[in-house]
Amino acid sequence: MNCRYTFCSGKTCGEPAWNDSEYCILHTELPHEIETPEFRRMLAEKDKRIKEKIDNNDFNFEGAQLTVIDLSRKRIGTGLNFRRAVISEKARFSNAEITGNVLFEDAVVRGSMWFERATISGSVLFERVTIDGSVWFEEVTIGGSIDFEKASIHGQADFSDASIGGNLEFVDAQIGRDATFYKASIGQDVMF
Ligand SMILES: [Zn+2]
Repeated sequence: MNCRYTFCSGKTCGEPAWNDSEYCILHTELPHEIETPEFRRMLAEKDKRIKEKIDNNDFNFEGAQLTVIDLSRKRIGTGLNFRRAVISEKARFSNAEITGNVLFEDAVVRGSMWFERATISGSVLFERVTIDGSVWFEEVTIGGSIDFEKASIHGQADFSDASIGGNLEFVDAQIGRDATFYKASIGQDVMF
């Protein structure tokens, strides 16, 4: 059996399925009961697969079901794809250097996200993302645009000292607490 997860591109994942799941280890949901042997075993397998992908410069995590992703200080020569991913704890990209776009459309992050001091050559696309915590983009440098259209952020969004080459878009976005743009520089339009 191969994973039947279908990417936005229409392509099927096709990795070997995990045990009796219809999906591979990354596309299989973690059990709801944490701290069980099954949960720990799956988490260890997921971590192994994440590490393999990173070592192979494969940053396609579209639809992946993860607990934590930490790419802090990494140099990433391609874009990052976390479309429709579910991250149950947190996502860290602090000080990362990313050549390409960062895609989180329709993703769900149950904790917070850190991008402070990261450099991203392309755009940051977070349309319809759900973030239960906060997003930290202080001192980030983004060549392209930031799009949070229809995003739902329960905590705060901090773009202090950020440098954004293109547009900053928050149309129909909901931010539970403050959005801070102190000393941020935005190359083109700001849309709320
Ligand atoms: Zn898969």
